[in-house]
Amino acid sequence: MKVAIVGAAGRMGSRLIHAVLEAEELELTGATERPGHPQIGMDAGLVAGAGELGILISDDLAATMVNADVLIDFTFPDVTLKNLHVCAELGKRVVSGSTGFTPEQRAEVEKYAEEVPVVLAPNMSVGVNACFKLLKEAAKILGDGFDVEVVELHHNKKKDSPSGTAVRMGEVVAEALGRDYNRVANYHREGLCGERTKEEIGMQTVRGGDIVGEHTVYFIGMGERIEISHRAMSRDMFARGAARACQWLNGKEPGLYDMQDVLGLK
Ligand code: NAD
Repeated sequence: MKVAIVGAAGRMGSRLIHAVLEAEELELTGATERPGHPQIGMDAGLVAGAGELGILISDDLAATMVNADVLIDFTFPDVTLKNLHVCAELGKRVVSGSTGFTPEQRAEVEKYAEEVPVVLAPNMSVGVNACFKLLKEAAKILGDGFDVEVVELHHNKKKDSPSGTAVRMGEVVAEALGRDYNRVANYHREGLCGERTKEEIGMQTVRGGDIVGEHTVYFIGMGERIEISHRAMSRDMFARGAARACQWLNGKEPGLYDMQDVLGLK
């Protein structure tokens, strides 16, 4: 399967180039960056530290996608929506790991997914997706007797807070407890804000240095505490998950899928 990568010079872009080169069934055929990026015209392999590939970084996604079956996009919601528009017009599949979509932007993604198959997941790691499953089970077993708090840590360049993964963790727990995440999520405590409610799910964020990504969900009861944690040591497992999603998309009908679909966890 022929793969193009958008945002090829980014933190995830370079790891995605390595992951696609390592995946037996995938062939890298194109790489793009934003217009004006200093590495336009350079060899994508050299930029990623993967050796010369003869694939030059372009700023023309439509021309790049002519030679590709699927696009891997780890950029930002507004960019992803433009990329989906191009891919839907050309009938090309999309795997996107971008995070920070508003409900309105997510609805737009769903529209494009009526035309082409799309995998959209805020976290492509197998371990995090296993955590989603464990969180659902833990919440069902522990019920309303435990206070739930989600804490996430990321590097100081991350643009969205809380992370898409933390939000998904909060949603998974809320769904399992029969609560509406948007109503019970509490992102901010300051001053005399009163006692914690039984229903709320605290969402706390730490930013600093080069932390790749850490998430812990606390279930805090009287006299005991359960913590379900995931720590990412490098970006490679996100990239390998995206490569796996490309392979899984082969032959799929249009629709919006996530990593739980890819990993058969539903
Ligand atoms: P980054 O800023 O290092 O990389 C983004 C790249 O996209 C940059 O090189 C930028 O120039 C490029 N870009 C911006 N606009 C563009 C355009 N119009 N056309 C082409 N390229 C464009 O960011 P990053 O750390 O690699 O993260 C990218 C995204 O991936 C973020 O949304 C982040 O939250 C998400 N992410 C998801 C996962 C996951 O598993 N789903 C894991 C890590 C990061």
